[in-house]
Amino acid sequence: MHRVSRVLAAGTLAALTGVGAIAAQAEDYPIRSITMIVPFAAGGPTDVVARIVTAHMARTLGKSIIIENVVGGGGTTATIRAARAANDGYTLIAGHMGTHAAAVPLYPNLAYDPEKDFAPVALLAGTPIVILARKDFPPRDFREFMVYVKDHADAVKAAHAGVGSVSQVACQLLDSILDIKPAGVAFNGTGPAMNALVAGRADYMCDQIANAVPQIGLGTIKAYAVATPERNAALPQIPTSSEAGLPAFQVQAWNAIFAPKGTPAPVIARLNAAAVKALDDEAVRRRLLELGNVIPQPSERTPEALAALVKSEIKRWNSVLKPAAH
Ligand code: ASP
Repeated sequence: MHRVSRVLAAGTLAALTGVGAIAAQAEDYPIRSITMIVPFAAGGPTDVVARIVTAHMARTLGKSIIIENVVGGGGTTATIRAARAANDGYTLIAGHMGTHAAAVPLYPNLAYDPEKDFAPVALLAGTPIVILARKDFPPRDFREFMVYVKDHADAVKAAHAGVGSVSQVACQLLDSILDIKPAGVAFNGTGPAMNALVAGRADYMCDQIANAVPQIGLGTIKAYAVATPERNAALPQIPTSSEAGLPAFQVQAWNAIFAPKGTPAPVIARLNAAAVKALDDEAVRRRLLELGNVIPQPSERTPEALAALVKSEIKRWNSVLKPAAH
């Protein structure tokens, strides 16, 4: 054989072998346990939603999914780690409206691009925002709350999960509508932030509903309003922000699964199918709904739909937060 064609043949063979190997890997996937990075503390809404869905996904995939809570930087520390992880389907991240959208305008030097550095897998839940306060916070309803925090803007403390977290971004929006700049108290997640609220070490918080429902049920905190157009079936007694007097405050966050960019398409398809199956499971649905989450419609569950959501949410938060960015 002529030298050039011999080299070409060897190259082609190598390429074919490579492709074949990837296809075989994807076919066998998963052959070992998968790590799901949760970018906030255990017990918070991201952790809870991820655990509910991944417990079912693990059964479908036949391998365990290990949750690893990696905290810091309002969720960006973990997201940087996930962006740099091997793109073989064995490291995933439970990202959300903060890590994969609102962090972009809030961190000018963000070390990842939510669109370019990740392969979207599936949207898991919509998570309405609820305005919460410690049980003995003086305002009795949301109208009183708005007056009170304006009058005491130098003294009140808003708990959140770090710059770029959903709780921080949602309250930043609320504060900008109310034209106040209260002190923020940052935690590694709204799990610990909720403990501070229950203990009276912080005054109020704008949290994802999954974290709020159990505590409201126990009567350890109070809720003023849910920031969605409709009331939530898990908290039917809590008025909407429109009913309570602030229609401009509307935030429904979301939680989703992402893989590092370049994760083979068949692996993404397998993971997406497992997530979709979990969202169709009666027990999973019941648990998500009990906590006030919104289950994505079938058309919202594809990787493409998640990519479109990320794009539109980056645009949205860019226009909402850029003018006020710290
Ligand atoms: N969702 C986060 C948590 O699970 C906190 C946040 O984004 O506000 O703790």
